Amino acid sequence: MNMTRREALKKTAVLGAAAAFAPGMIARGNAAEPVNGFQLMDLPYAFDALEPAVDARTMQIHYEKHHAGYYRKLNAALKELSPPASLEALLAGPELSDAVRNNGGGAYNHNIFWKSMAPVGNGGGGEPTGDLAAKLRKDFGSVAEFKEQFSKAAGSVFGSGWAWLIVRESDGKLVVVSTANQDNPLMKSVTPPDQVGRPLLALDVWEHAYYLHYQNRRTDYISNWWKVVNWDEATERLGR
Ligand code: MN
Repeated sequence: MNMTRREALKKTAVLGAAAAFAPGMIARGNAAEPVNGFQLMDLPYAFDALEPAVDARTMQIHYEKHHAGYYRKLNAALKELSPPASLEALLAGPELSDAVRNNGGGAYNHNIFWKSMAPVGNGGGGEPTGDLAAKLRKDFGSVAEFKEQFSKAAGSVFGSGWAWLIVRESDGKLVVVSTANQDNPLMKSVTPPDQVGRPLLALDVWEHAYYLHYQNRRTDYISNWWKVVNWDEATERLGR
């Protein structure tokens, strides 16, 4: 690529970022750039929709740079292989290369994470109801106890990782687990059997998820996250 074209692209990227940062604008997947492989999902709300719990700048960088990057690298890693039926099937398989484990995990985990949140007044926050509330009470004793266990798991991840609410595969119970890096509870080949299951909620506690706004205050990030948690999504996933 010559300098002129590179500069032109750089300029376009800067202008594009400025335009995409406009309040209220819905972020789209990189539809202008056809991808041969798995496709980055559209963000289900605007970058600023979860303010102040999750700030717009963090949301935009997290989605456009981090999440898109996992997809790009995953597709590059899969180029030589026959395409798997689904991301879920790929991650649950008997063997994971480092590239698929890290980038396939990063792609999948953020899909769950974005959907685990919704704007206040449009599905975010409040308390769980219906089947999910009943099952949380049955398996944790109370919703408050579940939230405490989940917050503790998220706060206790050393370094980069995730907290999850899952339906455990072995006994169908709702349990809280945490994973390191971009591992997740679908990855049977690298996960203890009692932590394998189907995710209902995911919370990203990598520093890139909160550092711009919260700096080192991960505990504040976690407590504010409950204000935008999407219980309806978790309820819907429970019923699948
Ligand atoms: Mn992340």
